[in-house]
Amino acid sequence: MRASEATNYYFQRAAKHLGLGPRIETVLMTPRREVKVEIVVELDSGELGVFKGFRVQHDNSRGPMKGGLRYHHEVDPDEVNSLASLMTWKTAVANIPYGGAKGGVNCDPSKLSHSELQKVTRAFVDEIHDIIGPGLDIPAPDMGSNSQTMAWIVDQYSKYHGWTPAVVTGKPIELGGSEGREQATGQGLFFAAEAVLADHGMDIKGSRFAIQGFGNVGTWAAHFIHNAGAKIVALSDLSGAIANKQGIDIAALMRYSRENGSISGFPGAEAIAAEALLTSDCDVLLPAALGNVITSENVQDIRARIIIEGANGPTTPEADEYLIKKGITVVPDIFANAGGVIVSYFEWVQNVQQFRWRLERVNQELKLLMLDAYSEIRSQAKNNECDLRTAAFLLGISRVARATALRGLENESFCMIDGPHN
Ligand code: NAD
Repeated sequence: MRASEATNYYFQRAAKHLGLGPRIETVLMTPRREVKVEIVVELDSGELGVFKGFRVQHDNSRGPMKGGLRYHHEVDPDEVNSLASLMTWKTAVANIPYGGAKGGVNCDPSKLSHSELQKVTRAFVDEIHDIIGPGLDIPAPDMGSNSQTMAWIVDQYSKYHGWTPAVVTGKPIELGGSEGREQATGQGLFFAAEAVLADHGMDIKGSRFAIQGFGNVGTWAAHFIHNAGAKIVALSDLSGAIANKQGIDIAALMRYSRENGSISGFPGAEAIAAEALLTSDCDVLLPAALGNVITSENVQDIRARIIIEGANGPTTPEADEYLIKKGITVVPDIFANAGGVIVSYFEWVQNVQQFRWRLERVNQELKLLMLDAYSEIRSQAKNNECDLRTAAFLLGISRVARATALRGLENESFCMIDGPHN
């Protein structure tokens, strides 16, 4: 199933509950703008490198659009489209004043030098600077891009429009980045885990977690969860998987992985087969690496009671239906991993106000927004007798639908506002 088909499936499942009607459904499913540009730069060898850059702007009814820029040799327009729409629902679930977007450049960053990457980024900005901006569309790092990429974007964009750090988030602190942005997604996952476990009558202390992925999301999630007294009994990265029933020492693993480039060979755990990670004996499974890893092939063997989606789109719709039937709680990506975009929002707020927040304030506000979102999703699930993913989509879609209708799509039931109309 293509990425956009999976997103549309979840959209339709929730839209059916809402009874939106075909007019507004069409508006909400169709991206506002899809841009493809050619990027031509001179490589270090003197040859010309030609790359394709994409930006999909899905929806801006609740505010400027927001989403990452992926640098990957296989940036797929269909996936970018699907991720742009997921951003629309994610920002609405988190109740931050943004719409959704996503983009990327078809390049392999591991094969480009620092100066080549800089040229590609600046040339991309030359092509899209008119359609991005603090009140229009605010990119951020994603797979293959990072805070250095964002710094180049700020610099290039500012040449056209004057000093504008709020054009992107995920910047280095020196250029207006926020305290807490790097660990934000993992920190948000921790707040989500704490709340969901409490709902199941469980304490994070002593609970057993298996985590797939030890990059930005997986590392910080493991760090906060471990520090709260949970046991990380299995963990994996691209090099393979490891397990320890007594719990893995995450601080030691972070040091080991930094020094060795991967978790492979870590002395504090035993190696297990990579595919055994997802079916480990644990209370909570936290996929934090790739999309489409929980599928109809392996879902019957999952032993966790709760799945918290750190990665975007880790569960296929077929597997999702099976998990619902089995009564396994799935905490969906559009809520669970929203910590990153929430702290991006705080970064933008700080840039616009030219006022810096301390880390304590960032984390305090992040916790409030994550817990508010969770409580709203839970109410939706209760009122509609549905699973948490459908509830999250219901919440996100209804907020976007209402804003769209209020801004001028006539004859929609979502338009109805109480009070005098004269
Ligand atoms: P990353 O590149 O920092 O880390 C990815 C990790 O996954 C690495 O440890 C890598 O070794 C591992 N990995 C890759 N293939 C694997 C495999 N087959 N089996 C096991 N591990 C594998 O990426 P990230 O920023 O941590 O993002 C991870 C996921 O979370 C992605 O789906 C991303 O879209 C999503 N996400 C990230 C953020 C964020 O703020 N970084 C926010 C929301 C969602």
